[in-house]
Amino acid sequence: MTTRRPLVAGNWKMNGLKSSAAELEKMIAGSRTLPGVDLMVCPPATLVARFAELAAGSPLAIGGQDCHAQPAGAFTGDISAEMLADAGATAVIVGHSERRHYHGETDAAVRAKAVAAARAGLLAIVCVGETRGEREAGRALAVVGAQVDGSVADHGDFVIAYEPIWAIGTGLTPTPGDVAEVHGHIRARLSARFGVAGQGLRILYGGSVKPANAEELLGVADVDGALVGGASLVAEEFLAIASVYR
Ligand code: PEP
Repeated sequence: MTTRRPLVAGNWKMNGLKSSAAELEKMIAGSRTLPGVDLMVCPPATLVARFAELAAGSPLAIGGQDCHAQPAGAFTGDISAEMLADAGATAVIVGHSERRHYHGETDAAVRAKAVAAARAGLLAIVCVGETRGEREAGRALAVVGAQVDGSVADHGDFVIAYEPIWAIGTGLTPTPGDVAEVHGHIRARLSARFGVAGQGLRILYGGSVKPANAEELLGVADVDGALVGGASLVAEEFLAIASVYR
């Protein structure tokens, strides 16, 4: 039986200033007390280098929230995977639904970013998830399966984050049964494509994870951790979620 080490990653989105280092320090201290889980914070790009310096030598990893597919060039405002690695990041989120929605990112674009992450030696956190309409139409598994097939690169280190779009920032969550169904489906797709290695790949759940529901959601079969938005901004809440793996 494959054992997968859980990962709890915080997506700070467009939140955080230099003064947020105080909250990060609490997370760094907490990470030392949680040896059974990989802990990561993905701050906005402006804070990646500073946070990576602060977290150096601790179990807390720092990741980016997006990267460009190219290593360098005339892409004003963009950041490459190599730049994130240079700043001390060890991972990058790609294909978050907010990027897919507000920036029109397709599966092919997300896949190119996952390839870039691999090129730079970063872990890619590849996000997938259905809209409310797609779930109500009974298309959740088909949509998520196609996103996994289209967004994941053939090589490189990656995890999947299943984030139903209707659960992000809304306080709504799928039932444990629905989470199990989707994660099982993703697992089957990964195993079909990557063979036995698919069993070792981590599949995170994301969408309104809070201390109050973490035990239930993270206890579901094939859930190997969480991608946490709002609750990851507060050290006490973020660490309480990760403490499920104590
Ligand atoms: C996210 O944006 O990745 C997320 C899961 O947000 P929240 O936890 O706030 O729903």
